[in-house]
Amino acid sequence: ASAAPQFRRVLLKISGEGLMGPREFGLDSATVAAIAREVRSVREMGVQVCLVIGGGNLFRGVSGAAEGMDRTSADYMGMLATVMNAMAVQSALEKAGVQTRVQSAIPMEAVCEPYIRRRAIRHMEKDRVVIFAAGTGNPFFTTDTAAALRAVEMNCGALLKATNVDGVYSADPKKDPQAEFYPRLTYTDVLARNLRVMDASAIALARENRLPIVVFDMHGENAFAKVMAGEGRYTIIAE
Ligand code: UDP
Repeated sequence: ASAAPQFRRVLLKISGEGLMGPREFGLDSATVAAIAREVRSVREMGVQVCLVIGGGNLFRGVSGAAEGMDRTSADYMGMLATVMNAMAVQSALEKAGVQTRVQSAIPMEAVCEPYIRRRAIRHMEKDRVVIFAAGTGNPFFTTDTAAALRAVEMNCGALLKATNVDGVYSADPKKDPQAEFYPRLTYTDVLARNLRVMDASAIALARENRLPIVVFDMHGENAFAKVMAGEGRYTIIAE
């Protein structure tokens, strides 16, 4: 990745499953360390980076509710799971020599900073990577929506959504070899065709605020830096 970056400041959304590596549950330290290196190389391009990390590798509110738990309590557990993931990624980033701050939407002063928008921006201006934990802080939301929200609040040039495939297809390319790849889509395409990229509230928020969403495959060396340089294959969702 040598070309100039496409954006000055971005938010990277990684799902909880993105931290599992080959495991069925929880965190894989080699995978977390690889993510930290990816973030570091984008930082080295001069791009300001903030992160939203999901919690699905540890707990999902809907699963808790399906087993009879009160949905709101289950969602708070899911949000707490994202705090644990944020701490793991913070630790890996600092080991890789990257300065970080975790800010939680649910204040937890012994553990991390509370979410304060202006302070988060200041951290990024000082070259720190800010990790936003606890989603939006509200039940019935997802970390995809939290990612769109924080990206808009931080005036990010784009929301980068890390996935297991190199972009958006008409069907699951792992199951359907005829699936068509889309290099570019509009927000309305995604909503109208019900393409499963991010949940509808995240797409709607991005559309309303003209926040481009870049869907890419986070696997492989320098995947994040390459997409930032406009190299390789990815899908961009915009107007
Ligand atoms: N969650 C929530 N509000 C938010 C973000 C997340 O209630 O703003 C809860 C919800 O229960 C969700 C869990 O946290 O299932 C983990 O987040 P998510 O499913 O978005 O993680 P991912 O799929 O990205 O790993």
